[in-house]
Amino acid sequence: MAEGLTNWAGNVTYSAKELQRPDSVGALRSLVARSGRVRVLGSGHSFNLIADPGSGGVLLSLTALPPSVEVDTAARTVRVAGGVRYAELARAVHAQGLALPNMASLPHISVAGSVATGTHGSGNTNGSLASPVREVELVLADGSALTVGRDDPRFDGTVTSLGALGVVTALTLDLEPAFEVAQHVFGRLPFAGLDFGKVSASAYSVSLFTDWRQSGFVHAWVKRRTDAPWDGFPWAEPAAEAMHPVPGMPAVNCTQQFGVPGPWHERLPHFRPEFTPSSGSEIQSEYLLPRPYAVDALEALDRIRDVMAPVLQICEVRTVAADRQWLSPAYGRDTVAFHFTWVDDAAAVLPVVRRMEEALAPFDARPHWGKVFSVAAPVLRERYPRLAEFAALAAELDPAGTFRNAFVDEVLG
Ligand SMILES: Cc1cc2nc3c(=O)[nH]c(=O)nc-3n(C[C@H](O)[C@H](O)[C@H](O)COP(=O)(O)OP(=O)(O)OC[C@H]3O[C@@H](n4cnc5c(N)ncnc54)[C@H](O)[C@@H]3O)c2cc1C
Repeated sequence: MAEGLTNWAGNVTYSAKELQRPDSVGALRSLVARSGRVRVLGSGHSFNLIADPGSGGVLLSLTALPPSVEVDTAARTVRVAGGVRYAELARAVHAQGLALPNMASLPHISVAGSVATGTHGSGNTNGSLASPVREVELVLADGSALTVGRDDPRFDGTVTSLGALGVVTALTLDLEPAFEVAQHVFGRLPFAGLDFGKVSASAYSVSLFTDWRQSGFVHAWVKRRTDAPWDGFPWAEPAAEAMHPVPGMPAVNCTQQFGVPGPWHERLPHFRPEFTPSSGSEIQSEYLLPRPYAVDALEALDRIRDVMAPVLQICEVRTVAADRQWLSPAYGRDTVAFHFTWVDDAAAVLPVVRRMEEALAPFDARPHWGKVFSVAAPVLRERYPRLAEFAALAAELDPAGTFRNAFVDEVLG
């Protein structure tokens, strides 16, 4: 039974009639073939009903499948099963002297669920987490298997897929040699005179935080590779104590700071796998826009900071490199991402989300698929220019709509 099952944040309850955990790919294939409506649940870290099949449907968890992570050191690739989370993937990859290019703020999320929504970390030259994916293994609605690689013209629609094409049973990702990262946290950084281009380019991954209670950033998290030259961060003073992005939360939940070098996977996320990430009591939204709009968008948000601040825990500004996935929020454009961790009070937050979306509308802002947004479907179709092609791909691979749900119906029309 799936009764009362919620997402990680607890702000949505899935309406699926049952939760199934097949323990082999064979069992999964027959289950899908005999089910009318199916959606896969990753680690449940999305803040909306994107994973919910609806009241007549089956929610499928892959947690009982073998959590295989097969590293090919010669080819520098890894094949990872559909239910595995980044924390396990990263440890296995690092043990072989290899690395992923980037991670999100937390390693708790499943790989398949993350790439399905266009999840990203930060860094001017780092694409979304979908960028290293080279092959997707799917189980389609009739229970058959399909592998789609980069040489397939459908590939750019199949990684960031909102779970609408089939069950992703495995992904193969490109790796690179392991590297070390040193993380430094800096204090106040005023907006006045901010050269966003230089600040965001100052290290491998840069995250800027503001609570919008004042103009300017309250801290900057700078993650530099120790194998690359670094000119420092001349715009702010180093923080005197270890920090958590959310005011009042314990810094012990966060990865090592003060510039102590360490393995890539223990520095690129903000949060450590064995602790609660973020505040744990929250709703999140995020909008991704072309990077040249960064300063104009900051000014537009600064004009409504009195509206946002009362319901905001923290806002994080990051950059993402352009990618080729049709439904990626960073599709075709180098991107700046404005993330909002709101208080856990939907009634108070939703009107503010709408005000903020109005403020960001002139900047062609694409909402993050896994977070709370209210952008209307026709506007989404303008902002995601390949949505029509994705809808055609979904119709080709899933003609009966087994993997559709209310969220996908709304988006695809
Ligand atoms: C505390 C916190 C911090 C976050 N930080 C970031 C961040 O730094 N950057 C960022 O971009 N996002 C961030 N997010 C959002 C999060 O990364 C996304 O919502 C992501 O999709 C969550 O992955 P999941 O495995 O929990 O997916 P779920 O929420 O479980 O599912 C997401 C989608 O993927 C589909 N899916 C999952 N597994 C499969 C599969 N095997 N086959 C087919 N479809 C599948 C589901 O059906 C659904 O459509 C954060 C979320 C939280 C709660």
